[in-house]
Amino acid sequence: MARVFNWQIGREMSYWYPEARPKKQFAAIFDTNKCIACQTCTLACKTTWTSGRGQEYMLWNNVETKPYGFYPLGWDVRLMEKLGAQRWDGSRYEGRTLFEAAEAGERVLGWRPEEIDYAHPNVGEDDCTKTIDKGAHYHGFHEAWFYYLARICNHCTYPACLSSCPRASIYKRPEDGIVLIDQGRCRGYQECIKACPYKKTFFNPMTGTSEKCIACYPKIEQGLQPQCFVNCIGKIRMAGFISTPDQARPDNPIDYLVHIRKVALPLYPQLGLEPNVYYIPPRHVPRPYLAQMFGPGVDQAIAACNKSADDPDLSALLALFGSTEWVMPRWKRVGDTVMGLREDGRELVRVPVREPVWILKALDQARGVSRMNIT
Ligand code: SF4
Ligand code: SF4
Repeated sequence: MARVFNWQIGREMSYWYPEARPKKQFAAIFDTNKCIACQTCTLACKTTWTSGRGQEYMLWNNVETKPYGFYPLGWDVRLMEKLGAQRWDGSRYEGRTLFEAAEAGERVLGWRPEEIDYAHPNVGEDDCTKTIDKGAHYHGFHEAWFYYLARICNHCTYPACLSSCPRASIYKRPEDGIVLIDQGRCRGYQECIKACPYKKTFFNPMTGTSEKCIACYPKIEQGLQPQCFVNCIGKIRMAGFISTPDQARPDNPIDYLVHIRKVALPLYPQLGLEPNVYYIPPRHVPRPYLAQMFGPGVDQAIAACNKSADDPDLSALLALFGSTEWVMPRWKRVGDTVMGLREDGRELVRVPVREPVWILKALDQARGVSRMNIT
């Protein structure tokens, strides 16, 4: 085991391979407050990448209703139970990561889902106050809150899938940090499926190999955002590249939201993978639940978001989500307009920070009609 630095847990940790950060690291931010669980992202991915034989159950992108939605069943709560107590001291994680908690002879603490665990992706999870006759649904009662958690592979800095593979079939591209499985090398041992805590590798019984989200790398190579991003109805997603905290650039939208304003947080940072999908946490959910899921930065992130209406830069950047199919390496605000820019400063898109609103009269006398929707 090597010693590597994981900035998300504020300390060094053990990892199977030495630290080797890519030139650029693909990253994404999802604003959970805007997701409507329409599953358009899920279908955009499904129809692009996983419509073949053996891929029927695969959802490289899925959206689950927390706290009771899972894909596969119980993916996070089962692991939390195995890992045991997770203690933070401020921004430093004092508990064990999955690599440090690995059992003798293993590289990662993990578990392998059964086929049945993939049987019910987000079925009935929104039915929060009553049971459903004869339905194969959750038959208890939700608390008075739930929210939607969209998930893809996190293209982790320290991928558990990669470290667990005895064939060294999984690699992280040096040019953009995207994690891929070499289909020619994979022999289907499924160690990655056991190791990935987010359960974002999938075994294909037809090919006998494992497969996973590829961050739509053919699009990324052309400067375009992945399919699940550009098709997102709620405009909750932004793709880009993240720096390490010491290199953070305020004109990089991902750096700005993650490192500078600290409003976007990693998913289960305590597991130790340094995942690169970041979440603006939901505002209405009990804080202890969120702190376990997104780490100790939750209070600060929500406080900043709650004040975003009076915060010109933050509200401007949030308005850029879903505004273009291009990856925006840079951004700037001028007055009430925010722009997404190419690396060389050329403009990709501009949007108003606040949408103009026209209120029309309910009765249009010129046309002799009444309007139903007048804003
Ligand atoms: S989320 Fe899972 S599959 Fe993706 S890089 Fe991390 S460990 Fe690997
Ligand atoms: S398309 Fe966007 S809004 Fe719809 S479920 Fe996916 S992430 Fe949520």
